[in-house]
Amino acid sequence: MRITKSFAETRAASLGTVGLVPTMGFLHEGHLSLITAARQASDTVVMSMFVNPLQFDRDDDLVRYPRDLERDVELATAAGADIVFAPELEEMYPQEQFTRVIVNQLSDELEGPNRPGHFEGVATVVAKLLAGIQPDRSFFGRKDAQQLAIVRRMATDLSMPGEIVGVPIVREADGLALSSRNVFLSAEERAAALALSRGLMRAADLAGGGEREGSALSAAVHNEVGDSLEVEYVTLAGQDLVQPLETLDRPAFLALAAWAGETRLIDNIHFDSDEFVADRGTRLTERSVLYGTGEI
Ligand code: AMP
Repeated sequence: MRITKSFAETRAASLGTVGLVPTMGFLHEGHLSLITAARQASDTVVMSMFVNPLQFDRDDDLVRYPRDLERDVELATAAGADIVFAPELEEMYPQEQFTRVIVNQLSDELEGPNRPGHFEGVATVVAKLLAGIQPDRSFFGRKDAQQLAIVRRMATDLSMPGEIVGVPIVREADGLALSSRNVFLSAEERAAALALSRGLMRAADLAGGGEREGSALSAAVHNEVGDSLEVEYVTLAGQDLVQPLETLDRPAFLALAAWAGETRLIDNIHFDSDEFVADRGTRLTERSVLYGTGEI
C-alpha cells in the first residue's frame, strides 16, 4: 500500500490498467465493495480520499464530516487497494477554481433543488480526478444514483476516456443503507431510519407483483415511514436522465431523502431489466466496520 499526495506521484505509481474509487473517506463496506469491484477489473486500484469543500452546500455538514485517514488506510489495504490518494486542499485546488462542470438537466430534480451547487462540486472534482489520475475504469455506488447518472453523462459529453461502473448498494443486516453519516444517528434515530429501507423493499415487492405507477411505489414508502422521519422526497426517476416518471416503463430508480434528527439520509432501489426486477442491494451479515468495536 502506498499513500500518495499528488496526481503526478499517483500516475507514476499506477501500473497496467487502473481502477479508481473516488471517496470522501471514513470508509464502510459500501466503499470496500467498490474496491472489490475495482480489484477484479484492474491491475492497480487507486482509492482517492478527499472531503471536497466544493460539493458541500452546508458549512456545518463540511465541518462535522467524519475523518480518520489512518483507519481508512488500514481498511482500504485489507480490501485490496494498492494506492490511497489523499491530497491536501492545495493539490486539488492550488488556485481559485474558476472552472466548473455543470451537467444540465440531470441536476434539476431529486437532490438538485435540495442541495444547491452540490452536483456542480461533485462533477468538477470527479472531472479533476479523472484528468489527474487517468483511470481505465472508475467505480461509483448506486447509493448515489443521481451522482452516478451525472458522472456518466459528464464523461460521455466531455469525451472522457475510461468506463464508469455502477456498483450495488451495501446495506447493514437490518436494511439501513451504509453511509459515513450513519455514525451520527442516535439509537432512536437509527431505529426510525429503518422505515426507509423497509418502505423501499415494500415498493420492490409491489413492482415485482406488477405495479407500475410511480405514485403507488412512492406511497408504499410514505406509508411505511409515516411521520417518524421528515421526508424530503420519494420519487421514481429514469436512470439516465433522472427525470421523474409517472410510470415504471424504462430503467429507473425509486429514490428518497429524509431527515433523522440532524442527519440527512438518502436511499434508493434500482429497477433494471425489462421485467423491472429490483436491485435491492446487498446486506452485511455482520456488524459494520463503521461502528468500530464500541456499542451502536
Ligand atoms: P462518499 O465517500 O460518501 O462520497 O462515497 C464514495 C463512493 O461510495 C460513492 O460512489 C458512493 O456512491 C459510494 N457509496 C457510499 N455508500 C455506499 C453504499 N452503502 N453502497 C455502495 N456504495 C456506496
